[in-house]
Amino acid sequence: MSDSPKEGYGRGMETFHSIIGHRRVIDYLQESIRAGRVSHAYILDGPDGIGKMMTARVFAATLLCREGGEEPCGTCISCMQMDGGNQPDVAYVTHEKTVITVGDIREQLCNVVPVKPMVGPYRIFIVDEAEKMNEEAQNALLKTLEEPPSYAVIILLTTNANELLPTIRSRSVELPMLPVPEKELTEWLMAREQLPDYRARMLAVYSGGCPGVATACARSEEFQSQRDTVVSMLKAVPSMREDRMAEFARDFAKDKDKQETELGLILVWIRDLLMYKAVGEKAGLMFVEESDAIRDQSDDISYDALWQTQEEIARIRADRAVNVNMETAFWLFLLRWQERFGGGNG
Ligand SMILES: [Zn+2]
Repeated sequence: MSDSPKEGYGRGMETFHSIIGHRRVIDYLQESIRAGRVSHAYILDGPDGIGKMMTARVFAATLLCREGGEEPCGTCISCMQMDGGNQPDVAYVTHEKTVITVGDIREQLCNVVPVKPMVGPYRIFIVDEAEKMNEEAQNALLKTLEEPPSYAVIILLTTNANELLPTIRSRSVELPMLPVPEKELTEWLMAREQLPDYRARMLAVYSGGCPGVATACARSEEFQSQRDTVVSMLKAVPSMREDRMAEFARDFAKDKDKQETELGLILVWIRDLLMYKAVGEKAGLMFVEESDAIRDQSDDISYDALWQTQEEIARIRADRAVNVNMETAFWLFLLRWQERFGGGNG
């Protein structure tokens, strides 16, 4: 799930203040505005849904705001245009294929960089999924980065800065976007999405600290129904018949889009089993409404067995990338997991 240019958390004008987490990145950006030391290129590096696009947008809005403060004022013409996605001095570099081609970069960036800003002091280019630039595209971008006009600010958003040329990275300010801490994200989700604490905590963990992912899941009926299906499977694992396992494996293999969600939920469940084993009470569980099943299962399986199960999930994730037969892989996973029950004392 990639941040789309106009999609924020969906509640009013965005400001640095309304971004959750990323305090160091925000402090750095605000300080550079305050000190008048804005760089020509930034790399915001972090997973999908972490808040890269929102941060880039707020930074751009602040740079162009007529009030010239450290936050967008939200009421000037520039802020209104920014909010509406039609600020003429901000360009979102888009691409149609799975790669960003040299044509995309030339047409939307290199060739238009020399055009002075319409009104404001900066002309800002935001390149989402910058890791998808092929080498030719990156070399074209590099040329622009070597001699940028004074008003140009190029913001590269990427899930993996290692895929960018070292020469691009050395000319950019690189800002890692770290996961939002569990407690902070949980409280934010409770307030923002009106979720009960255990549900918010589950989404905070499940999303890996990515507010965009957590919010999307909180609002998705499909996620809720998938969650229910996965939970009913998880509760049944210790006593599941083989034909049921085969059925779950078949369903798992069928829908590629759902596999990552399912594996993520299974990991949260295993985390709960480990937690219950360690603490022996339901406070702190993600699936707190299933605490009876979690208690029973955690009594009946060893730490080692749970760690092995976690490792197998990592293996399935890796196998997905290389097109291993998922039906067999998932069926074996369930079978082995089931065999590990019955040895709770380890
Ligand atoms: Zn403004």
